[in-house]
Amino acid sequence: MKLVKTIQEVREEVKKARGSGKVVGFVPTMGALHQGHLSLVKRARNECSFVVVSIFVNPTQFGPGEDFARYPRQLSADLTLLEKERVEIVFAPSTEEMYPADSSTVVEVPKLSKVLEGKFRPGHFRGVCTVVVKLFNIVQPDFAYFGWKDAQQLIIIKQMVRDLNFPLTVVGCPTVREADGLAASSRNVYLSERQRALAPVLYQTLKLMEAMVKAKKITETRKLVRAGRQFLMRHSGLQLQYLKAVDSRTLQPVPRVKPGVLVAAAVKVGRVRLIDNILF
Ligand code: AMP
Repeated sequence: MKLVKTIQEVREEVKKARGSGKVVGFVPTMGALHQGHLSLVKRARNECSFVVVSIFVNPTQFGPGEDFARYPRQLSADLTLLEKERVEIVFAPSTEEMYPADSSTVVEVPKLSKVLEGKFRPGHFRGVCTVVVKLFNIVQPDFAYFGWKDAQQLIIIKQMVRDLNFPLTVVGCPTVREADGLAASSRNVYLSERQRALAPVLYQTLKLMEAMVKAKKITETRKLVRAGRQFLMRHSGLQLQYLKAVDSRTLQPVPRVKPGVLVAAAVKVGRVRLIDNILF
């Protein structure tokens, strides 16, 4: 495994690999790696002969007052984990390497970026799309792996790849969870013991909604969301930001639950923001 910090070095390494006929898989991350990230890396390892993982806490996707400064950074622990997964290249650039002082272009998928997370984190997906486009241009992978944990991000990136004709396939990977159902996240380390005990309620809410649909008790999304909201609100200490049932291609509300409907939610537990979703 090679740790590289410059764009030029990644380009050279990938060029060499391609020259010897390798298929390039890419997993972009912000580090503080956990089992969720590693599931993406394992999938890439299975499907590709050359695996690149990036670790970059991208400043442009954090809003003012968000957790950019305190976001967990633990490069050496991350490298140990990636070494075990037999990754070829870890790309960990500096902010200056990714964003020279005079850089000014941004990439936006406007419609899909305005709803759900976009309402609470204006500019977030512009930052995500901009950095992902840059990383795609730097690494030029055949396959890029993203988690369903961040469903809206995955859907936006798929749209962006289609719109901009990137010659690569975006692969969506299932959400990895802790034993009690909480989706693995780098931000879970912020949770106090009490908050950590409360956090699984988010997934319990989604599972309850799923069970109601499976039992054919509810098909109208309005009623389903109301039931989910009521269950969640019974737990004090959780502040609901949104709970919505939307079409997973357009992210627009739909009247009835059917295959392809995404139920997505965000809650705050103290200062910590958690997101989760299920796809029907
Ligand atoms: P991040 O480091 O949070 O930017 O995440 C990097 C990638 O890992 C994104 O594609 C995420 O969707 C994915 N990811 C994060 N947490 C999970 C999880 N619990 N299960 C599956 N994928 C995840």
